[in-house]
Amino acid sequence: MNQLSDRLNSLSPSATLAMSQKSNELKAQGVDVINLSVGEPDFNTPDHIKEAAKQAVDENFSRYSPVPGYLGLRNAIVDKLQNENGLTYTAAQISCANGAKQSVCNVILVLVNPGDEVIVPAPYWVSYPEMVKLAEGTPVVVSAGIEQDFKITPDQLEAAITPKTKALILCSPSNPTGSVYSKEELEGLAKVLEKHPQVIIIADEIYEHINYIGKHQSIAQIPSMKDRTVIVNGVSKAYAMTGWRIGFIAGPEWIVKAVNKLQGQYTSGPCSVSQKAAEAAYTGTQKPVEEMREAFARRRNLIVELAKEVPGFEVNVPEGAFYLFPKCSSFFGKSNGERTIADSDDLALYLLEEAHVACVGGSSFGAPDCIRMSYATSDENIVKAITRIKDALAKLS
Ligand code: PMP
Ligand code: GLU
Repeated sequence: MNQLSDRLNSLSPSATLAMSQKSNELKAQGVDVINLSVGEPDFNTPDHIKEAAKQAVDENFSRYSPVPGYLGLRNAIVDKLQNENGLTYTAAQISCANGAKQSVCNVILVLVNPGDEVIVPAPYWVSYPEMVKLAEGTPVVVSAGIEQDFKITPDQLEAAITPKTKALILCSPSNPTGSVYSKEELEGLAKVLEKHPQVIIIADEIYEHINYIGKHQSIAQIPSMKDRTVIVNGVSKAYAMTGWRIGFIAGPEWIVKAVNKLQGQYTSGPCSVSQKAAEAAYTGTQKPVEEMREAFARRRNLIVELAKEVPGFEVNVPEGAFYLFPKCSSFFGKSNGERTIADSDDLALYLLEEAHVACVGGSSFGAPDCIRMSYATSDENIVKAITRIKDALAKLS
């Protein structure tokens, strides 16, 4: 008997977290697995941020915080948005949550009615369509293949909008493709959105600082979009703080107020000590952010160069984030002994078993022809992983 709700039964588990768990289990059994599955910086949180957290413990930041987060943190975010992005918000337009993941979900939950449509460009981050389903909305997937750099065009967006469209989720730099929308491309999408004022833009900018082509461009910087965009960002990726769980939204006050109401009944404000750490991240030196970005850029060059040498892979050069998303459909239907590769999920399992490298198959990202590799790991691991992958793939015929 299945006593779970239809809402829960309709959800798929997170493929990124599932693959990472599988890889950790194999590691615990003594298998030398290289984990390219989960996307998180391999660096430690910078020291000055850790010191701020220690101080917060000693100063007894141990009680409930305001639901949207401490004013000090929200003001630090207001300053960050002004100074780094040229965007003006008030503290009342900021709400902090337990990571950018909760921030995205909060916005979807306060906007989407059963049957409402949310446009999700594919390849997408695994959680977006599931969050829309959680809200009993309908994810409308708009696919962009490797030949268009995995980015949707204004015409595709126009064709996907209906009177039921409530929101568009735009992720740039993108997880899983690393593609980055240019200012001109964002303006092209904005032109279409101007004709459909009912559509709210959820701009997931969590990879803002991991960008190899220049300054981050936000769709909220386009004046006609500012009042209908909710920016999602946080400290997880830029400051190597995935475990601290602090994300935020910046957007129209009516949406922020609604998110605060939801959060007030659901989780309350996020962890007090983590908030103090996040405040130090935004107000302190930004040198570690640039150093990590440079390391990711070097690794990006390395993995692209190596992956291009793998026969059967079609490789796109990512412009941001820390993922490579090669097209691997040339292996579908091929076999190694008893084992036949049906799709990219199969290929990911094959690579885990044969090469001891954990990747994530593309179907959970809405791109079943591709496979995702996170290169947030050492140069040595990257070289070893791609060598092993190349050898394992060579056994398929
Ligand atoms: N959005 C995207 C595109 C991500 O890749 C991630 C990483 N998990 C998140 C949001 C969530 O970030 P956080 O760890 O801050 O919840
Ligand atoms: N964003 C990371 C990833 O895609 C973390 C895992 C998750 O939250 O899905 O691998």
